[in-house]
Amino acid sequence: MPIRKLLVANRGEIAVRVVRAAQSLGISTVQAHSSADAASLAVQMADEAVEIGPPHAAKSYLNGTAIVAAAQHTGADAIHPGYGFLSENAGFAAAVEAAGITFVGPRSETIAMLGDKATARSAAEAAGVPTVPGSDGIITDADAAADQAAAIGYPVMIKASAGGGGRGIKVAAGPEALTVLLQQAQTEARAAFGDDGVYLEKLIERPRHVEVQVLGDGRDVVHCFERECSLQRRRQKVWEEAPSVAISDDTRAALCASAVNLARSVGYRGAGTLEFLYDDSTGAYYFIEMNTRIQVEHPVTEMVTGIDLVAETLAIAGGKPLSLRQSDIRLEGHAIECRINAEDPSNNFMPAPGHIAVLSVPSGAGIRFDSLLYEGYDVPPFYDSLLGKLIVKADNRDAAIARVGEALAALVIDGVKTTIPLHKALARDADVRAAKVHTQFLEPWLEANPIPEES
Ligand code: ADP
Ligand code: ADP
Ligand code: MG
Repeated sequence: MPIRKLLVANRGEIAVRVVRAAQSLGISTVQAHSSADAASLAVQMADEAVEIGPPHAAKSYLNGTAIVAAAQHTGADAIHPGYGFLSENAGFAAAVEAAGITFVGPRSETIAMLGDKATARSAAEAAGVPTVPGSDGIITDADAAADQAAAIGYPVMIKASAGGGGRGIKVAAGPEALTVLLQQAQTEARAAFGDDGVYLEKLIERPRHVEVQVLGDGRDVVHCFERECSLQRRRQKVWEEAPSVAISDDTRAALCASAVNLARSVGYRGAGTLEFLYDDSTGAYYFIEMNTRIQVEHPVTEMVTGIDLVAETLAIAGGKPLSLRQSDIRLEGHAIECRINAEDPSNNFMPAPGHIAVLSVPSGAGIRFDSLLYEGYDVPPFYDSLLGKLIVKADNRDAAIARVGEALAALVIDGVKTTIPLHKALARDADVRAAKVHTQFLEPWLEANPIPEES
């Protein structure tokens, strides 16, 4: 049944993005929000708003019971979880399903299988998709870990199976470090994710992060090509592009086919991303994880394919079959996204919430700004620091880099420190301009190129 009324169970720029897509489809919207977000842009834009709890996310955006009750109370027939928060929580998806409400995303069993990194690795192997050499599933015992690590070869990564957002990952250089870090990793994973499962993976040196966007309707799956997200700080993406200029057309075809095979093998429904590491020196790629939700960087794919991914998933959740055939999906041009955070890049990226005194947004052909901002808004201190994303598209990568530089120069956000100066410096950097980057590029680069304080 088509969705008539959608409850948005998230905040920030993605809530704004989902409300817009719903409105474009004639779906009425209810914005669920914490008491700290009563004045947010998404609340102002939605047809209705409902408070789900106090500022602390554990009591609002992570409170599945309050969210389902809010949907029932407002008569919403569907819930969109956005990204982060409960978006990859199989228990929440199951509770939504059990209440007779449509969860905009995969079935809860799919989330349970693919949202857990260790079981997702097994599903990838079963579908014939290459994974990073690593342990057979969860490791609990220190002796078994040492044996497996010796077979894999050091350095190895210890990864929390339930981890996300760049957290829950440690690197062990040798057997002594492994023993100490294994226990630490288990304790930290239990505290952070409520699950102490960890597994081992070989550390791939200086890889690129290349990921494939898929869309499924539970019967068929198509891919919308890849994004490259190699510029990362603390394993979190900072700057993303589509397509990747590092891979050949043959690699692109194989990578996208691998992603579709894995998604098809589970009858995937909704938007999903299969993340891979790509080794320039060998041309090999390895599956690392699947995000069973819309991603922060989805707009670069929208810019080069012309597909509205959020609208597609709302249609699929409303019971429509995929409207796209693989042969209809084409790549055109090159897109770049800069994540604009309320952080001070001249002071170790210290979070910098505060009052937005002036906002001036660039516009023009090939420029898009997805954000939660308006002039006079007070950025609350309780949540992730992402303010918005500047996205540009041009005919080719050189032109896109030129355009992003111009758009960054025209973007004014006064009142809080932001990561705009970092992006300006990256857009001028010779290695970035030549696409000579990898996932371990940005951190040493920041040491060598400190961002000066903005005047
Ligand atoms: P992407 O969509 O690029 O994969 P992330 O994996 O970093 O991005 O997750 C998207 C957002 O969701 C992050 O910016 C963060 O706010 C939030 N998030 C993801 N995982 C977690 C987590 N385990 N704890 C807290 N926040 C998270
Ligand atoms: P998260 O759920 O936090 O996004 P991922 O498994 O996607 O965790 O890994 C996040 C980042 O960590 C990757 O984009 C990459 O930069 C790095 N990484 C993960 N696994 C490996 C590995 N085996 N070798 C080298 N780098 C890795
Ligand atoms: Mg990831």
